[in-house]
Amino acid sequence: MACYLCGAPLARGQGVRRNVNSGSSVAGLFSTPPSLLLIVVSLLARGKMPSIRSYFALRTLCPSCAQRLDAQRSSRRKAMLFVTGFAVAVAIGLVVAAPR
Ligand SMILES: [Zn+2]
Repeated sequence: MACYLCGAPLARGQGVRRNVNSGSSVAGLFSTPPSLLLIVVSLLARGKMPSIRSYFALRTLCPSCAQRLDAQRSSRRKAMLFVTGFAVAVAIGLVVAAPR
C-alpha cells in the first residue's frame, strides 16, 4: 500500500481515505488537469462551452498528504466565499445605486 499522491509506503491502517480528484474531461476528452487550450479549441469547434467534468475517487493517502489536501480545500472554500460575498455586495451596490 502506498500514498496515492506522494507514493510513500504506508503501513496497514496508517493510510487515510480521501476523495481525490482523479482527473477531468473536457468535451469528452480526458485531460488532467482540464487544460485551457482544450476548452478554447472545443469552444471554437462547437461554438459553445464544452462540458467539463471532474472525476473523484476514494484513494488512500498518507496523513501528511491528507492534511495538505484538507488545508488546500479549506483555503479554496474561503476564496470562493470571498468572491461570492464580493459579487453579492457589488450586485446590491448596483441595485441601490441604479436610478429610478
Ligand atoms: Zn503522501
